[in-house]
Amino acid sequence: MRAIKKESISFFTAFKCASGVVKVLFTSRLGGFSNGNYKSLNLSPYVGDNEKVVKKNREIVASFLSKGKDFVSVEQVHGTNIYRIAGTETGHQKDVRADAIICEVPDIAIGVLTADCVPIVLFDESGRIAAVHAGWKGLCAGIIKKVIKEFLHIDNKEKVRAFVGPAIDVCCYQVGIEVSARFEDIYPGIVINRMGSNYLNLKQIVKMQLEEQGILPENIYISPDCTSCLSELYFSYRKDGGKTGRQAALVLYTRN
Ligand SMILES: [Zn+2]
Repeated sequence: MRAIKKESISFFTAFKCASGVVKVLFTSRLGGFSNGNYKSLNLSPYVGDNEKVVKKNREIVASFLSKGKDFVSVEQVHGTNIYRIAGTETGHQKDVRADAIICEVPDIAIGVLTADCVPIVLFDESGRIAAVHAGWKGLCAGIIKKVIKEFLHIDNKEKVRAFVGPAIDVCCYQVGIEVSARFEDIYPGIVINRMGSNYLNLKQIVKMQLEEQGILPENIYISPDCTSCLSELYFSYRKDGGKTGRQAALVLYTRN
C-alpha cells in the first residue's frame, strides 16, 4: 500500500458522529505519478490520462480511506442526476452519468472530480454523506436544491454540515453575458465587473443556495483557495487551457 503524501492533501477534517467518524478530504495535484498536463495526482480516468497511472494515483488516495478501497466516482456531465450508492461499488463507475452521489452505507468513500468547478460534500450526524459537482450549469439547473431534498428524509437541516472545496473564484472566473445574466438578477452582487469583463462568484452562489435550503451558515465551510490562482497546487481547467487532470473532494463514514 502506498502512503499518501502530506502535500497531496489540501484539506482534511474528521467529525465524530453516531457510532462512527466522518472524514472529509480534498486532494491537491501534488504527489502523484501522472506526467505532462496531468502532473501529477490526476484522479480522473476520463480526461485522457494513462489509465494505469490514474489507477496508481487512486491507490495513493485509497491508502488514506477505509480499508484501502478505491473511492466511488461517476461520469460527471454538468446535469442534476443523483446516484445512490447500493453498497457493492468500488472505484470509478464509468456507466453512471451523474453529478452527485448520496451514500448511506458505512465504509464507502465517495468523491467528485473537479478542476475549477465547485466540489461540495455534505454529511449529517447519522453518517449519511453526499458529494456534489457544481459548475454554473448545475447551479442554474438546481442541483443543490435537488440533493438537499433527497438528502434530508427527516427534518434535520440544522445537523447537516457542508464543505465547499477549492474552485475557481471571482478573481479569475470571467464569464460571458449569457452566463452572468442567469445569476445577477437572482443574486444581486454575484457578478463583478472589472475593466469591462464580468466575473462570477460560484462559491458564493453555492453558499446562498445551501442556505436557501436551510443549511445553517455556521455549518458551511468554504475553502478560500482559487484553483486558477493556485494552479501549482490544483488542476485548473481554465488556467491549464482545457487539457488537465482532476482533484477530488472525498467524504467517508466509517463505523467504530
Ligand atoms: Zn483566482
